[in-house]
Amino acid sequence: MDAIQLKTSCICGNARPYQDCCGLFAAVPDSSKGNEVSRKWAAFRHALHELYMYSVPLRNLYEAYWEKLGQESYPHHLLMADSEYGRAVTANFFWDYSVQFSDARPILRAARDVEVKNVRMANDFREWSLSSFSLGIVVGVDARHGHLRMLGSEKIHQVVHGGDLPEPGTCVAVRLLSYRGEEYIHPAMLVFPRESFSEAEADSGFHRICKALGMKSIAGLRPDVQCDEWRRHGALFLSLWREQVYDAIIGTPSRNAGMVAHPFNLPDSISVTAKQILSGGAFQTGKNNFEIRYRDVPLAQLNMRKSGIQGVLVDEAFRPHVFSWLAEHLDSPDSIPKSTHENNAPPAADMEHWIRRPLSFLNEESPLQASSHDFGKRKLRDLIDGMLKQGSDVEMLRQRLGL
Ligand SMILES: [Zn+2]
Repeated sequence: MDAIQLKTSCICGNARPYQDCCGLFAAVPDSSKGNEVSRKWAAFRHALHELYMYSVPLRNLYEAYWEKLGQESYPHHLLMADSEYGRAVTANFFWDYSVQFSDARPILRAARDVEVKNVRMANDFREWSLSSFSLGIVVGVDARHGHLRMLGSEKIHQVVHGGDLPEPGTCVAVRLLSYRGEEYIHPAMLVFPRESFSEAEADSGFHRICKALGMKSIAGLRPDVQCDEWRRHGALFLSLWREQVYDAIIGTPSRNAGMVAHPFNLPDSISVTAKQILSGGAFQTGKNNFEIRYRDVPLAQLNMRKSGIQGVLVDEAFRPHVFSWLAEHLDSPDSIPKSTHENNAPPAADMEHWIRRPLSFLNEESPLQASSHDFGKRKLRDLIDGMLKQGSDVEMLRQRLGL
């Protein structure tokens, strides 16, 4: 990864610039700042930053890993704009895949280098190398601590997290890293949607992955013993997450997604304004051009002409989702809320539509998506408080979002 690449994506695989992500932890943390737990987290993130910097010389291996991913049937490049996906791919490379190269075991090498510098972290590094990716259910959580039950074992782990561990009952895919006597959650955490992925489904997903690896349980998976299983396991959990978060909703794109055009025309009878398209959650990409996205993945381009709307699907698999989006947002303009102002409470009749609409205020998540994690909940509570001050009736909204 060179300097130019670091401007557009971070060493951890996040699509955000390095300066706004891991770069914030590049310097040795100031031990006089913050409370005890935030100091602990800052120290952990700094140590992780130092570890990840060892992956920079491994760029050619990372490219080889990408090439290997490119041979799979899923077009992984489509999702690299999704920070969570990008971070998980990089973590899978770093923790699982690169372990097979005897001359490039970044973690063990890091341990050796650090030992020379006489920093007492070598043992921690070595333990980090044994950190597998797996599913856990959140049992309890507060601002920075939480309890997780890892599937395949009854043990409850007490963990330190970065403030983004979701509410109890939610399934997460995590790597638990031992650092200075405590277990920390690696920032490349994947949260499964609680409303569609129950604990029972998490169990069956976990067992499917164990079976795919030919193991009874992957609790206790060892990189030095089960080498092949170790190399593959992280990617299987990432696929499980992708199936739940993307494929189940938008369909599974083909390998050549984005390379073949799938044009469509909307009937002339539909008259639509740019305002309507945008209020439905589409993005403007040019004067008369718009993009329908799901999370960070573009699904279709729309071009508004005098004669009507022409569209192009990024992949044929997205057709049902895109067309139901169009039907919902364009076909019956009356169903589109009159006000696009985000701070007004939606009328009761529009609520189901409103809670599924991406809002810039929520980083393009819908209120329903945002209500599944702590950070989003905080923002939603602020929003609802604002609505209340304006005299809106927010009780139904509160109930619907579980706030
Ligand atoms: Zn980062």
